[in-house]
Amino acid sequence: MTQAKHNVVIFLGPPGAGKGTQAERLAQDKDLVKISTGDILRDHVTRGTELGQQVKPILDAGQLVPDEILIALIRDKLAGMDQVRVIFDGFPRTTAQAQELDMLLEELGAPVSAVPLLDVPDDVLIGRIVERGRQASARGEAVRSDDTEEVARRRQEIYREQTQPLIDYYSARGNLYRVNGVGSMDEVYGRIQGGLN
Ligand code: AMP
Repeated sequence: MTQAKHNVVIFLGPPGAGKGTQAERLAQDKDLVKISTGDILRDHVTRGTELGQQVKPILDAGQLVPDEILIALIRDKLAGMDQVRVIFDGFPRTTAQAQELDMLLEELGAPVSAVPLLDVPDDVLIGRIVERGRQASARGEAVRSDDTEEVARRRQEIYREQTQPLIDYYSARGNLYRVNGVGSMDEVYGRIQGGLN
């Protein structure tokens, strides 16, 4: 199996499903660049850039940042690459974003190759998010402003309304596969890898 087989991977799944962690590991293994829109936006907030100031209240409330902002961010990221070998974590989150991404990737000649969907039951998700906040705090790290139970619940709702339709969108293209996201990090990673071949 050559590395060239999977050049564009999209991780789908609700907040707290483990997309970031798993995407990071896969990126290292396959020598892909992980693009996490949440990380990019949080970095802008931390640096206090104009964009950061604009999106901070949206992130704090657990709402989605407008599509145009995300699309411009991604367009920028991809434009700076010699070859497109990427894993998306947290993007796309709406049908409009997915359609724009398809057009962009078509221009670049690098279509989506695999879409692992991490399946985790709702009650487990909220527990994981709250625990993530608790652990960051125990390590003396900054706690994400949206890792509170109330905002976590809103993020799940928004996922169901706005992002879940992407499951059908990518199923119809034949590159989505479901992964049971409950288990150890290694177990889940093994399932993700199994689905890639
Ligand atoms: P995440 O780290 O992926 O959970 O993202 C954290 C927050 O960043 C989300 O709750 C949104 O406010 C914002 N965000 C990240 N990615 C997107 C996206 N693709 N579209 C809209 N908002 C996003």
